[in-house]
Amino acid sequence: MYQIIDGKEISTQIKNECRDRVAAYKEQGVDICLAVIQVGNDPASSVYVNNKKKACEYIGIQSLSYELPEETTEEELLAIIDKLNADDAVNGILVQLPVPKHIDEDKIIRAISPLKDVDGFHTQNVGALCIGQKGYVSCTPAGVIELLKRSNISIEGKECVVIGRSNIVGKPMSILMLRENATVTIAHSRTKDLKEVCKRADILIVAIGKPEMITAEYVKEGAVVIDVGIHRKEGKKLCGDVLFDDVAPHCSAITPVPGGVGPMTIAMLMKNCVDSVEIRK
Ligand code: NAD
Repeated sequence: MYQIIDGKEISTQIKNECRDRVAAYKEQGVDICLAVIQVGNDPASSVYVNNKKKACEYIGIQSLSYELPEETTEEELLAIIDKLNADDAVNGILVQLPVPKHIDEDKIIRAISPLKDVDGFHTQNVGALCIGQKGYVSCTPAGVIELLKRSNISIEGKECVVIGRSNIVGKPMSILMLRENATVTIAHSRTKDLKEVCKRADILIVAIGKPEMITAEYVKEGAVVIDVGIHRKEGKKLCGDVLFDDVAPHCSAITPVPGGVGPMTIAMLMKNCVDSVEIRK
């Protein structure tokens, strides 16, 4: 029988730990504030932004909300970021991605002070991650590590295959697994014999962005499977990159969608906001 890794429960544990830390900081007179900027009104982004604001409320930190019109220029957005960078009362700055096409996403990410980059996307934080220095770590991959650790799944010495090499999931995920002493393979769209590569994995982390692509044929008997993907199927049901019912019977542990990696992203964002007090020192 396989173990279902419960991201909902683990994310609640993490948020409760954050809430306790926030309360302790408040007693010392330290307040935490996250600025959330959304440009345009993409419905999916609005849902994410609202969930982030709710999480801030839950753990007891202030959220400053900037809901900017689609026509906002790059200069206007950069000016707001500059102002927030200079504001000592602001701990974290988050620009909800994607931004409209007329705005250069990389330029925006680089404009956020690395000390306030709670998404962990700034090149300085990515570099720090690569060489094992302190900094903010991208929330989704950091959440996967917490899921594994808090489910008592050991990582050291394990064969890990990460499918996907995006800057926000696949690459930082691979580096984090390396930091935990796994032997890591990164697979991607040009990988030959993907099934054979995946079958080597004791821990298979899937971040492809293709609904239910990974079937039992890709999975070694007894492997741990982490599904980062999230898609809305017809009829509004959510699914991941893994065909859950086909794969689960072959696993020792697996994350469901929904209720696996998804809730961890916001929990780790909250953790980054609380960690900002120390990081900014
Ligand atoms: P992306 O599209 O930027 O990257 C996908 C990666 O998969 C690419 O590196 C590509 O090389 C690889 N790939 C594509 N097709 C492939 C194939 N046929 N075989 C092997 N590799 C292939 O996506 P992303 O931003 O990394 O996100 C991946 C998935 O994770 C998406 O479903 C996304 O919605 C989801 N996601 C979830 C969360 C969360 O909070 N749970 C956060 C971020 C992303």
